[in-house]
Amino acid sequence: MAQARLMDGTALARRVVEDAARKAADLTARTGGAPCLATVLVGEDPASVTYVRMKQNRCRRAGVASRHVALPATTTTAELVGILRELSADPGVHGILLQHPVGDHVDERAAFEAIAPEKDVDGVTFASFATMSFGLPGFVSCTPGGILRLLDEYGVDPAGKRAVVVGRSAILGKPVGMLLLARDATVTYCHSRTRDLSAAVREADIVVAAVGRPRLIRGQDIKPGAVVIDAGYNPGNVGDVDFDSAVERASLITPVPGGVGPMTIATLLEQTVDAAARQLGA
Ligand code: NAP
Repeated sequence: MAQARLMDGTALARRVVEDAARKAADLTARTGGAPCLATVLVGEDPASVTYVRMKQNRCRRAGVASRHVALPATTTTAELVGILRELSADPGVHGILLQHPVGDHVDERAAFEAIAPEKDVDGVTFASFATMSFGLPGFVSCTPGGILRLLDEYGVDPAGKRAVVVGRSAILGKPVGMLLLARDATVTYCHSRTRDLSAAVREADIVVAAVGRPRLIRGQDIKPGAVVIDAGYNPGNVGDVDFDSAVERASLITPVPGGVGPMTIATLLEQTVDAAARQLGA
């Protein structure tokens, strides 16, 4: 069988960002104010600092303003909730991103729920999860939203397909499964207590790996012709799928890096511009 075709997230993300930048410029010209994303970071975890900086840089290049709130690691839940409520009420801020993780002593769910749903451009609130699950208008979690966009770009219609999602985190596994279900896939979730992961993966027309374990999913378990989405990002640019063996069996596969990763920030930018357009009535 021929090798799988690569799903180029870098190229698609570039187009999504270019489109968002055009909409941002148009909005700025018509309303006099640029869309603005507030980024909130608690503590100085090096990976989180890098992620937030990447998001701010990408915003700047797309004509989206960003306002950064850097908080000490000692910030309490009440203080963080207070700041997020202020940003939610601030008409100059259109989207809010609270960088995960916030530290064990903070109630992250309480903090997320302090974000106004109309500014939840990272799709982390209960309200966003509900609208996403029902297929209603609202903001989606960015990585899952980016994954669905990739499937659409490559002509993969989830309807009627067997989708196996490996991982059930609140930001990735669960929402991507709900999005696939809303698009009429038959969805199976696997997780650390799944008894026979290989058997489940072998049934899948679409595999989404969202685990954080390098090369956990092996090519021998990929059904010939399946679509393989690797959201994993492990040290050394290694995904959750064993790419070299999976590429021999799949019909489409995301590389790591350059597959799912770039779609996350692109979706964030797109949703920030959409949020600004709705709030500015433009
Ligand atoms: P997470 O919160 O640690 O969740 C991992 C999930 O994998 C859990 O549901 C866990 O099951 C499951 N799991 C762990 N070991 C397993 C095993 N041996 N077999 C089957 N399932 C297993 O991780 P996450 O935040 O969802 O991230 C997952 C991966 O995606 C990471 O590599 C992360 O870097 C990457 N990621 C990428 C992006 C991007 O933009 N590209 C964004 C977010 C995350 P339990 O629920 O039972 O514990």
